[in-house]
Amino acid sequence: MGVAPIIDRCHALLEDLDLACVSEWKAAGEGRRAVGFLPVYIPRELIHAAGALPVGILGAGEELEIVRGDACFQSYICHLPRSVVELGLRGKLDALDGVLFPSTCDVIRNLSGIWKMMFPDKEAIYFDVPQNLDPKVGGVFYRDMLAEIVTRLQRLVGRDVSEDDLRGSIAAYNTSRRLVRELYDLRAAEPWRVPTSETYLLLRAGMRLPVEEHNEMLTHYLAEVRDEDRALRDNARIVVTGTFCEQPSLSLVRTLEHAGCYVVDDDLMLVTRWYGPDIPTEGDPLEAIAGAWIDADDETPCRYVADGKRKGQQLVDSVQRCGAEGVIFAAPSFCDPALLDRPMLQAVLDEEGIAYTSFKYSENTAQLQPIREQAGTFADTIKLWSDA
Ligand code: SF4
Repeated sequence: MGVAPIIDRCHALLEDLDLACVSEWKAAGEGRRAVGFLPVYIPRELIHAAGALPVGILGAGEELEIVRGDACFQSYICHLPRSVVELGLRGKLDALDGVLFPSTCDVIRNLSGIWKMMFPDKEAIYFDVPQNLDPKVGGVFYRDMLAEIVTRLQRLVGRDVSEDDLRGSIAAYNTSRRLVRELYDLRAAEPWRVPTSETYLLLRAGMRLPVEEHNEMLTHYLAEVRDEDRALRDNARIVVTGTFCEQPSLSLVRTLEHAGCYVVDDDLMLVTRWYGPDIPTEGDPLEAIAGAWIDADDETPCRYVADGKRKGQQLVDSVQRCGAEGVIFAAPSFCDPALLDRPMLQAVLDEEGIAYTSFKYSENTAQLQPIREQAGTFADTIKLWSDA
């Protein structure tokens, strides 16, 4: 059968801006609820344990003209909040009964306030993720925050959430994270077999589908793709970083591939890939989720890097682990977290002698030729003049 039908389905889900798939899921059972979330980090286990469908709100990509969303924001911030408001005003998020806003940055914080004013009939939960990573401080704070989110979700769905519900959800997302890691490991080992455009589509599908269905999809893809006959090209192996929140269009991802880049690691769709080991399914489940955040090794601009660690070390580790030959910094225009971190990361790459280039994008960037030329030149430079 091959991977084509799986990827076609993912494509259809990506283009489903009206969330018809979410409406269908809700219609298939009495009293079903769907809860959206903004990037970057969300404890999706809580929504799942409440019997609701977690739905990623990642903007409108290249498909939607922003008309009214622009009126809510100044011109010098990223594109994501404009398209989220536009989607809401056009009724394209009507299938959602509530939205979670994490403390990713000031833009998402402000978006939560605007959302509450514009859509007062929808549950809106803003929550702070701790940056103090002391378990006795940030851990306790975050467990309390998670308990408060559960209380509000219980009100929304009209039923209690038990500890066993939470443990079952942790197990389902542990499976999801394992499969995503397997997908990333396979792509790093054989990037010609697992194109990044397909990886991206698969992860985007996880923002729409129930986790169990998405786990089946990933399992199926991983089984099928190993039999695909795909040509090995003389591409440069690249790590892409900066794409953790506002997502690039699929066209931009394909542009990097067409420019001669094998993306062997990235921070796209980060919500699917937090934590290293599994979250424990024994003991207090909220403490386990809070502890996983505190203990996580993940380094992004939205998470404090503990004292004593070199900021940028994770990027260097990623380059070395994946056998990458260079790094592309791709940040959304006006994304403070990504752009403020970049000089520190570049300094570390300079110290390590790792090549890099950088560009900015918006989710609806239409002029891809300059990016293709820049990425293509970078890839050619690596292939022609690196020591590798
Ligand atoms: S793209 Fe950057 S600035 Fe915009 S909402 Fe995301 S993290 Fe914040």
